[in-house]
Amino acid sequence: MKIAVFSTKSYDREYFGKFNVKDNHQLTYFDAPLNADTTNLTIGFDAVCIFVNDRVERSVIQKIARNGIRVIALRCAGFNNVDLEAAVENQVKVVRVPAYSPEAVAEYAVALILTLNRKTHKAYNRIREGNFSLEKLVGFDLHKKTVGVIGTGKIGAIFSGLMFGFGCKVLAYDKYESTELKSKGVEYVSFDQILERSDIISLHCPLTKDTHHLFNNESFAKIKKGMMIINTSRGAVIDTSAAIEALKTGRLGYLGIDVYEQEEKLFFKDLSESIIQDDVFMRLMSFPNVLITSHQGFFTKEALDEIALTTLKNLTDFEQGKFLENEVKI
Ligand code: NAD
Repeated sequence: MKIAVFSTKSYDREYFGKFNVKDNHQLTYFDAPLNADTTNLTIGFDAVCIFVNDRVERSVIQKIARNGIRVIALRCAGFNNVDLEAAVENQVKVVRVPAYSPEAVAEYAVALILTLNRKTHKAYNRIREGNFSLEKLVGFDLHKKTVGVIGTGKIGAIFSGLMFGFGCKVLAYDKYESTELKSKGVEYVSFDQILERSDIISLHCPLTKDTHHLFNNESFAKIKKGMMIINTSRGAVIDTSAAIEALKTGRLGYLGIDVYEQEEKLFFKDLSESIIQDDVFMRLMSFPNVLITSHQGFFTKEALDEIALTTLKNLTDFEQGKFLENEVKI
């Protein structure tokens, strides 16, 4: 099949090239994202392959369907950036990679916790400048702390296990309770309870209408003073302005985010010689207790292998009219 691959980086070319031997699809790589400005690039293709910050809203789907696109292959797990209703109306299938390496993201959430807590990023810079002082580097033991997990699906379940390894108590909030996790000692509680009781909260739910700005002024008012929030799910689960207010008052003690509400204008790009226009983001960066990374939770060799393999299989299954096991349905 002729596939237009959007938002391409060197590692996409490398990993898709490595595995596109058997399937032998015709892959054309575009650096540009797929959005309302780039739909003309899809003329002559059968499929598009997109990533987390391509914006496939209704008008985009209508245009790409008219251009002949029959399937949208997400090379990621989340699908909040695709209008699924519009896809159905325009007979465009949507497939994704539901579980390429939940371990990669869960382990990354732990990396954010440990870095923020023990300040290894600051120590690294200090030592390079000949500053061997320990002043202001004090952290806290994870042992015996209470960790709240919002969303105990694939990533949240693994993250819970990792936290047990540190000797933490694990609370969880999810629409569905997992009996397996309960048997391992996870205690399901209400959203308010998780806010009130947790020393650390890690977000592992998808971005939906229900979870959009789940962390807002009201929820920040209920958290334990000085606690830590880690977000490796999707940026808009947190209302950034509310987080800034909570940081300013000291209610929120630490914030570690791998995702950001307006990330599509910034993340995955080298803007080191540009003037960043996002003042909210710049304010967030000014806090000593905020750690931001550019959506790299998924970024391991194992995950990139699995993303390429599953995406190519999804496209081949579509081409051959087979059952689409990774189809995203409303
Ligand atoms: P999953 O579908 O296995 O689990 C999501 C869990 O969230 C489910 O248990 C679901 O019941 C729960 N949930 C849904 N709505 C909820 C709500 N309103 N309140 C509480 N819980 C709710 O997904 P997963 O594979 O564990 O991934 C979770 C999210 O992580 C993805 O949706 C994606 O946004 C994000 N993600 C980020 C990266 C990264 O690189 N940072 C990589 C992969 C996935």
